[in-house]
Amino acid sequence: MIWEKIRGHSRQVEMFRQSIGRGRLAHAYLFVGPDGIGKRMFAHALAQCLFCTRFDDGQLEACGECSSCRQMMAGSHPDYLTVGVPAGKKDLPIELIAGPNERRGREGLCYELSLSPMSAKRKVAVIDDVNRMNDASANALLKTLEEPPADSVLILIATDTDSLLPTIRSRCQMVRFAPLPTEDLAELILDLEIAENRNEAETMAALSDGSLFVAKQLADPELRQLRSTLYGSLADAEFDSLAISDELLAGLDRLGGDAQNRRSNAIWLIRFCTTFFSAAVRFLSESDANASIPQVEQFGQRLRPATSEDVELLMALFDRSALAAEQIGRMTPVPLCLQALFDDLGRMLRSRTRN
Ligand SMILES: [Zn+2]
Repeated sequence: MIWEKIRGHSRQVEMFRQSIGRGRLAHAYLFVGPDGIGKRMFAHALAQCLFCTRFDDGQLEACGECSSCRQMMAGSHPDYLTVGVPAGKKDLPIELIAGPNERRGREGLCYELSLSPMSAKRKVAVIDDVNRMNDASANALLKTLEEPPADSVLILIATDTDSLLPTIRSRCQMVRFAPLPTEDLAELILDLEIAENRNEAETMAALSDGSLFVAKQLADPELRQLRSTLYGSLADAEFDSLAISDELLAGLDRLGGDAQNRRSNAIWLIRFCTTFFSAAVRFLSESDANASIPQVEQFGQRLRPATSEDVELLMALFDRSALAAEQIGRMTPVPLCLQALFDDLGRMLRSRTRN
């Protein structure tokens, strides 16, 4: 029941069901995987199963009706503790892990975890963004990992393990989470009403690398508008390089933000191009395919029947776009990069029409 709303991670559910069923619930887990794929939701669901009074641990299920389940769903279970990097902060502050200076070790998550559970038979603590801990926080956490309190389960959540102390890593059982399959992500996008229709949800899912976090970024109305302008323009037989680069640069201004934001929005525009061309290759090479991007279909129809040169052209358009993304990553000024990209794309597209 509870796992139905967690998409794409059934292998991990099965792993927990089996190991807990054999009485092997670990004291500490490390959940690793990209942002926005459901690691936190998974941790919350796991805790709810461990707290639910109507099911045994090994069943790994939650009824959704007992008082424990209701408290979990309301976010008020006294034995479920969570910390993460506060909004606007860079690091996970030690105060949250081990209490403020004057009360070090007598407050904070590790201290609370050491107290007896209030209503369940154990406490579950989740530390999010654990790869953004500074040394002080990491050392404080290490003490708890070395001597985990009885009746406690600690779940650490990280996007990668590179920046984690090996001593932390080795004391946790690692559980890897993969990006969501595109179909699952499209369903989630629809469920959460991030997209208005299935077509749009599929397009967004294809662009989002299996991450709901990325899909939410993409849902910005201005960015969506720019994407549809760009796609319309790429599908147009009279591709106008100058007009499109002016329009996109003005759009980047409207999206605002600091230089870093501007750069990441520009990378989005370029990713829209690479997605467009790779979708066009798929459309042309699979005779029965219907492209989830309507403009790709319009563009592809014009190239039909496609020759191997057409497919090569699309690959070259894709490569040229990918190069622009690299250039922006290497700090080439955004306007220069976009203008040169659309100049080249225009020239390449015209070379095809002339033949
Ligand atoms: Zn329950």
